Amino acid sequence: MAQHLKDCTVLNNGVSMPWLGLGVWQVKEGEEVEASVRHAIQTGYVSIDTAAAYANEEGVGRAIRDSGVPRDSLFITTKVWNAHQGYDSTLRAFEASRRKLGLDILDLYLIHWPVKGKYKETWRALEKLYKDGAVRAIGVSNFQVHHLQDLLDGCEVAPMVNQVEFHPLLTQKPLLSFCREHRIQLEAWSPLMQGNLELPLLAELSAKYGKSAAQIVLRWDLQHGVVTIPKSVTSHRIEENANVFDFELSGEDMARLDALNQDKRFGPDPDNFNF
Ligand code: NDP
Repeated sequence: MAQHLKDCTVLNNGVSMPWLGLGVWQVKEGEEVEASVRHAIQTGYVSIDTAAAYANEEGVGRAIRDSGVPRDSLFITTKVWNAHQGYDSTLRAFEASRRKLGLDILDLYLIHWPVKGKYKETWRALEKLYKDGAVRAIGVSNFQVHHLQDLLDGCEVAPMVNQVEFHPLLTQKPLLSFCREHRIQLEAWSPLMQGNLELPLLAELSAKYGKSAAQIVLRWDLQHGVVTIPKSVTSHRIEENANVFDFELSGEDMARLDALNQDKRFGPDPDNFNF
């Protein structure tokens, strides 16, 4: 079990990926994203999750360069956007992201959404980037079991990560089991339900463990073996979200949190999106 903010899971290709990172969706390019990434790195975070679509890769790049932390101590993820899917356009999108981030090699490159009729070609481009050594690990995002089955059928390199919406109201049990079985690391987006943390059970467990509702949920992710990337632009919350390595939820409380599932999504449904 992870004991420290820098602790890692080992992906199916042997690359280490931190269990907890900072998400920067909806964080504004410029001072806002630079300040949050800077504060996270000062706090001890080593993993940052961005995407071409977040339009803040340059700020992320500036903050990591300014941090003074050696590049190889950090784990940087970005994603190819839907409009750029396809073989050649993905290779171009990767170059653009790499340039904006100011990095030679990325740690993890993901297909942002499973765009029908496109994601297999896109995956071939990710396989090339991986084989060329331009990225240390490749994966997908918002893939359901059937998308993964389709991709695994005929791919040369199996995905190392699947980043999906995952929280106590959307526990994704069949997807989690499938990913475990196929050694694909599940990663939780919107782990904090986009800030909608006012659930009675979270308040009860918060009092019981002396931890905030956010910390209870992030700990639940870790105990499920799920990588998590809470977003915050608030310094004390960036610190709070990292302070989840000094307590353990009981098996019974894990099961009570699991039982909150309503298959409720705060974000789009990967089987029915039109962007
Ligand atoms: P989160 O579930 O991480 O919630 C973020 C919200 O919770 C913000 O409003 C934040 O406020 C608030 N918050 C943060 N910490 C606390 C705390 N300790 N107590 C109370 N409130 C808190 O939402 P995201 O949707 O941003 O998901 C996280 C990351 O996942 C994204 O930033 C992105 O990197 C990734 N993602 C990926 C997607 C994909 O399709 N692959 C889709 C969506 C997200 P404040 O910032 O004001 O402190």
